[in-house]
Amino acid sequence: MKSSLFSLRNIRRLYGGLSLVLFFVLIVITDYRFMKGYEVNIFLKLDPLVAIGTLLSTGTIYRGLFLSLAVVLLTIVFGRFFCSWLCPLGVLNQILSSVKPDPSGQFRYNRFRPLYRLKYYVLAVLVLLGLFKVFQIGLLDPIALLTRTTSTLVVPAVNRATGLVYAKDFMAQGGVALAVVFVLVIFANRIVPRFWCRVLCPLGALLGFFASFSVLRIWRDEQKCTNCLLCLKNCHGGCDPHRDLKFSDCHLCMNCLEDCPEGAIHYGIEKPSSVPQGSVDLSKRRLVETVVFSAFLVPLWKSSASAEKKPSARLIRPPGALPEEDFVRKCIKCGQCMKVCPTNALQPALFEAGFDGLWSPILVPRIGYCEYGCVLCSQVCPTGAIRPIRPEEKIKRPIKIGTAFYDRCRCLPWAMNIDCI
Ligand code: SF4
Ligand code: SF4
Ligand code: SF4
Repeated sequence: MKSSLFSLRNIRRLYGGLSLVLFFVLIVITDYRFMKGYEVNIFLKLDPLVAIGTLLSTGTIYRGLFLSLAVVLLTIVFGRFFCSWLCPLGVLNQILSSVKPDPSGQFRYNRFRPLYRLKYYVLAVLVLLGLFKVFQIGLLDPIALLTRTTSTLVVPAVNRATGLVYAKDFMAQGGVALAVVFVLVIFANRIVPRFWCRVLCPLGALLGFFASFSVLRIWRDEQKCTNCLLCLKNCHGGCDPHRDLKFSDCHLCMNCLEDCPEGAIHYGIEKPSSVPQGSVDLSKRRLVETVVFSAFLVPLWKSSASAEKKPSARLIRPPGALPEEDFVRKCIKCGQCMKVCPTNALQPALFEAGFDGLWSPILVPRIGYCEYGCVLCSQVCPTGAIRPIRPEEKIKRPIKIGTAFYDRCRCLPWAMNIDCI
């Protein structure tokens, strides 16, 4: 089919590109100098996996997360549009996948493989852990992953090279582990295009589940199709549009629609002449194995040194943070609070808060202090792990984050009788 400037494929490219740019702009302006009330955490608020995860582990949904309901409803109407039209990590993976290792093998790379079902099991493990109050969705949620990496690694690296982003040089403790995860996600596109999206992404799996009920969908007219396989050439989801299209894996990239020379592929309500479609097709045996695996994982996770059982002197949470047990059940480790902290005091935890709290924010006084009148971290937290507080509340009440001990023999302000800061 001939492609026009206003084709669905080009409109999708425009939306995807704008979404990626908007994502990075919002990360950059998550800063005390530029925020001015902008919804800097809008992508996290639109994320249904974050909403469902907090609902499972806390029994409540934080008010901002109701926005994600719109994504669920739109997915039930249109299909898994989020993945090629809105998701910044998906768009990034797609751009990197378009530099193909072997352009002649595009058909081979884009066929559906049984491995692509793995993401549904990953989602099942995360949901089951959530039911047992172990909240680890933030480790693998794509929006949290990209926000965390961009906030704590990419933007600081750009700042180091240009000096344009931060007022002071930013550092993140344990940045190597964060970098390794991100490099693996990016590098995997060289093995299978959009490896993360097709194989691992739990949000993609959740949206795929909703998309399997969608009203509108891509369908193939068997009477027109000549089996040339051209629809497979640029398929984002690797979902076999030339056979029994797996609609739960279809990213609605619209490429097949325009690549089909016979006009046999359509988007809309299926017609009687359409080829039957495949859906989320999971083996019962694997599901039972997933439940057993999760059941083993829960005590293992809970038996790891947790902050509740063994509080560490280094575990200082940001002002306004919920009590520790509730905090780890709500924090998705997105790193927004670390990005906005003007003194760089908030850092990703390593094991100070147990395995549960990996990459959640802790205040490290050796790196920075909590600014007296600042409440920025409480304003950007998308899940309410840090509840919104006002400067007056922080100062007048005051909100206590820990107890400082100082050595009078070594304290210069004490010896000189001057203010500390
Ligand atoms: S599969 Fe996941 S990372 Fe990929 S586009 Fe969809 S939500 Fe984003
Ligand atoms: S309130 Fe304190 S910890 Fe939070 S952003 Fe401001 S300075 Fe950082
Ligand atoms: S506490 Fe920080 S890392 Fe955790 S969800 Fe809130 S903003 Fe994200």
